[in-house]
Parts: sequence; structure tokens; C-alpha cells
Amino acid sequence: MSESLDPFKISQTQLREACNLKGIDNDIYDVLSEPERFVEVRITMKMDDGKIKSFKGFRSQYNSARGPMKGGIRWHPDESASLVKALSAWMTWKTACVDIPLGGAKGGIICNPKGMSNRELETLARSYIRQLADVIGPYTDVPAPDVYTNPQIMAWMMDEYEKIVRKHSPSIITGKPLALGGSAGRSIATAKGGIFTIREAAKDIGLDLTEATVAVQGYGNAGSWAAKILQDDFGCKIVAVSDSKGGIFNKDGIDPYKAANHKEKTRTVVGLEGTQKITNEELIELECDILVPAALENVITEKNAKDVNVKIVAELANGPTTPSADRILFNNDIVLIPDFLCNAGGVTVSYFEMVQGYYQYFWTEKEVFAALDRIMTNAYRSTIEHAKQYNTHNRMGAYMISIDRVIEAMRLRGWI
Ligand code: NAD
Repeated sequence: MSESLDPFKISQTQLREACNLKGIDNDIYDVLSEPERFVEVRITMKMDDGKIKSFKGFRSQYNSARGPMKGGIRWHPDESASLVKALSAWMTWKTACVDIPLGGAKGGIICNPKGMSNRELETLARSYIRQLADVIGPYTDVPAPDVYTNPQIMAWMMDEYEKIVRKHSPSIITGKPLALGGSAGRSIATAKGGIFTIREAAKDIGLDLTEATVAVQGYGNAGSWAAKILQDDFGCKIVAVSDSKGGIFNKDGIDPYKAANHKEKTRTVVGLEGTQKITNEELIELECDILVPAALENVITEKNAKDVNVKIVAELANGPTTPSADRILFNNDIVLIPDFLCNAGGVTVSYFEMVQGYYQYFWTEKEVFAALDRIMTNAYRSTIEHAKQYNTHNRMGAYMISIDRVIEAMRLRGWI
């Protein structure tokens, strides 16, 4: 039988494996395996052409034991209840793994924002917040940007929320523009945080980053910044990058800035001068030192995991590797930096943004990244130690730390 690619089932399978390793009772697994609250909304609006259209939206509030729930909002045609639930679970484990005092949530709207005007995007953003205003708040659930949402959309959402509660409330949302209380460094925080963990992994296996070759799948916010920072800060050579239209390869290196400019002009990296076209599938199987999946889920599965030919897989995307693939990578001695550790830089700087918003006092980018480095490096070290202690792969190492922390908070509150 082939493995399930349903994201929520995958998240439950991972949780089950971690609970088994830790000897956690079934009744506790049951509590941890579903969101505390799942809200589905229908947003009906008038489009620019006068037609009425309805969109389905979700907010999954997974666990609030450790603090206000936190998680991005994705606008994508393939959004689903299962995906939003899985991502909200991973947010819960992520905030616990990096030990910031937050819970986990996630939101989404099934839509194609690429085909919408600015007025339509604004109407959609404001309507979503009106539907959810009763269940979110700066001390309950704080959304943020994710796939195909951005600081402008966060600004409209914050404004709508403030109109409803009739006061300033900047910490209702993070990933805001700097002029509205955003944090310095937030736009590159996910990539930057992931790179601190890659630096640690490289140290562990004796990989000299100045000689390292890198392939990045997904050239959006997370992926394109990862490529630029790996080149600029560590001297890595970027040999392949891709987006939804396909990938490009050059064994002598691709200039990540030129790739970004080309994508901005033509909406894809494909066709950049001096590069050879490859498919997204070929990129995953490319021989190089570091593979950075930074697009969507389920790109490394039981079918292609044996062909992954790198030393480090750094998961900036959420859910790129299935549980069967995890075992194959582990058996092949590939160092996996699991998603909810590797991409935790975004939520960590979002947390800094909430804190700065509560105080109305703002830090410099240098201060933000120094604090981020400390948090990511500690989380990476604890994950590796846990994985070693239980002779398992790093995703399980990260899971075990995270569920321990969530269970402790629930016990202290008297929930379990
Ligand atoms: P984004 O919208 O900026 O970029 C996504 C990129 O992936 C785009 O270049 C798109 O063309 C590409 N893509 C889409 N479908 C693809 C496919 N089938 N094959 C290859 N490429 C494809 O999104 P982002 O913010 O960079 O997020 C990317 C991933 O990182 C997601 O899994 C997201 O959940 C995760 N993540 C992002 C953040 C953040 O702060 N941006 C934080 C944590 C996790």
C-alpha cells in the first residue's frame, strides 16, 4: 500500500511515532492529535466585474497551553481543511521546539490571489478578519503572513481588527509593514533562522560552507532569501533553484539576485541566461551538498527519497518530507533539519514583533538577529541531542522536545 499524502494524517502519524518513542499514553495522544478549535467561514464578496463570488476560509487553533496561538494565513487554490489543521499542529510543535511562549494555529482561504485586483484582495482580507474577530486577539490568536499573503494584506487585516475593537492593537497580527509596527528583519527571518541551523549542521558533519553547493526548491520569500544569504554570508554556490513553473541549473553557480530579478520580470526563474532548464523532480535528486525545499508539501516521498543525493536537507517549507522518506534519509545518513525547527525563524521574529508591539519600543535588525541566532542554535542543539539519545531521526528529536513542553504546560494548567 502506498503511503498517505494527507497532511493532517501525516502530522498525526509523526505525533504517534513520537508519543510511542516517549511512552506517552494513548489518552494524551488523543488530546494532542486534534485542534482545540477549528473554524470554517464562507466569505462572499462582489468582484470587480460585478459578479458575486464565495470563498471558503479556515482558522485552526491547535493548542493554547503555552501561550497565545500563532500561525500564518495562506491564500492558495489548493488550501484545504486538512492542510490547515496539519500546519496548525506543526506551529504548536514549532513554538515549543524553539521555546517561545506561544501556542499554534494556522489559517487559510481557498482562492487564487494571483488573479485578483488590489481592491478584491483588500475586501477578502477585511472580510476574513470580520468573520474571525471574535476568536482571535493579541492575547489569544495572532495571525501572520504565509504562502501568497504579505505585509500589505497584514496591514489591512490589522486595520479591520482595530476598527472592530475600536483601539490600536498592533500585536493582533505580525509580518506588518515596518511603518505600522513590523519588526526589523521579519521579511528575511525564516531564511535567516534556517541558515543558522544549516551552519550548525555543517559544523557537525565537517562541511565547509565556502565549498558547499546548494539547490533550492521554491523561489519565493523563504527560498530566495535562503539562496542570497547562503551565498553572501557563507560563500555557498547556488547550483539550482526552481518555482512552480520549473527549475534552472548551472554547475558553476547561479547568481541568486539575477534569478530573483528574472523572476520579478517574467514571474519565473526559468529562462535565466546561462542556465539549463530542469524539472522540480530533477532538482530534488540533484547531487549537491545542501537541498533546501522551500515550496510545498510532500516533495520527498518514499518514491524519491532514496535518490536524494545531498549531505543536508534543510526544510524551509512545511511538510516537504513524508514519514517513510524520513526513515530512508536517516538510513542514508542524510542530516535532516526538520521543518518546524528549520523554518522557525519566521515565527520567532513574529514573536519579537508581538513583544515590540506590546511595548511600542523597537529593536535594531542587529539585535533581532542576535536574539534569533541564540534561539535557533539552542533549538538545533537540543534537537540533535534528543535524536541521538533515542537513536532516531532529527524530526523525532524535535517532536519529543516539543510534545514534552506542551504536555508539561497542559499538566500545570490542570487540563490533563
Ligand atoms: P512564497 O509564496 O513567497 O513562495 C513560494 C514559492 O514556491 C514560489 O516561488 C512558488 O512559485 C513556488 N512554488 C509553488 N508551487 C511549487 C511547486 N509545485 N514546485 C516548486 N515551486 C513551487 O511562500 P514562502 O513564504 O516562501 O513559503 C514557502 C514555504 O515556506 C511554505 O511551505 C511555507 O509554509 C514555508 N514557510 C514560510 C515562512 C515565511 O515566513 N515566509 C515561514 C515558515 C514556513
